[in-house]
Order: sequence, then C-alpha cells, then structure tokens
Amino acid sequence: MRAFLLALSGKMRRAFLCLFRPSEVREAKKSREGECDMCGNCCRIAFDCPFLKVFETHSLCRIYHIGRPVPCQAFPIDQRDIDDVGGACSFSFSEPSKPRRLSSNDLPVWNRQPAVYSREAELEDS
Ligand code: SF4
Repeated sequence: MRAFLLALSGKMRRAFLCLFRPSEVREAKKSREGECDMCGNCCRIAFDCPFLKVFETHSLCRIYHIGRPVPCQAFPIDQRDIDDVGGACSFSFSEPSKPRRLSSNDLPVWNRQPAVYSREAELEDS
C-alpha cells in the first residue's frame, strides 16, 4: 500500500510540475542524458497504463502519435522519477554543478593601480 501511495504521489508531482511549472520542467530536463529504450517501466507506475502494449523486447504506447499526456512526454523530469521506476530507466541526470569557493587567485583584478585622484594627471590627459 505504501509503495502504491508513493508511486501515486510521483504521478501527481509530475502532473503538477507539467501543468503549473513547465519552465521548471524544461530547465530540469537540460541535465537529462540518454534515450528512451522503450522498456515501458514509466507506463507501469502505480498501475498499468491502458494504452501500453507490451512486446517481448519492448513496449509501445497506443496513443504515442495522437497525443500522449504531457507528464508521459516529460518523463523523467528529474532523478526522483528514475527512482520511481527503481532506477530501471535508460535516462540519467548529470550532477548539478556545485558552488565552488573562490581562492584568492580567482578574485577579479580589474585595475592594479590605486584609484587616487590627481589634478596633475587630469591636466596631462586633457
Ligand atoms: S522508464 Fe525510461 S527508458 Fe523506460 S520507457 Fe520510460 S522513459 Fe523510456
């Protein structure tokens, strides 16, 4: 029962993100790598999708070309979705870049000259 509820909450999270946070979905998918191998695992989260057709080597969506739901198109949005299929998805996500502490050598040096106003220097420039 707990596994079913977790799977259902994942479905609801994806639906919510696709409906109300599409830009977040687009941004998250930028770090997605790989291609779908048509295993159909995402079509069996919580329950088997009625449009899923399973073959020995792969699966097909019966409404793939006439408009499958947006959360299905977006799967996987992030690592949590891959976890929802127990890691059995051919997509992966690259690690988001972590903030790096700058060393003193990385600090920008835009002008090594001390900023001292000099009336003589201004007169020389003009
Ligand atoms: S679980 Fe991943 S690889 Fe399998 S059908 Fe869904 S998106 Fe494609």
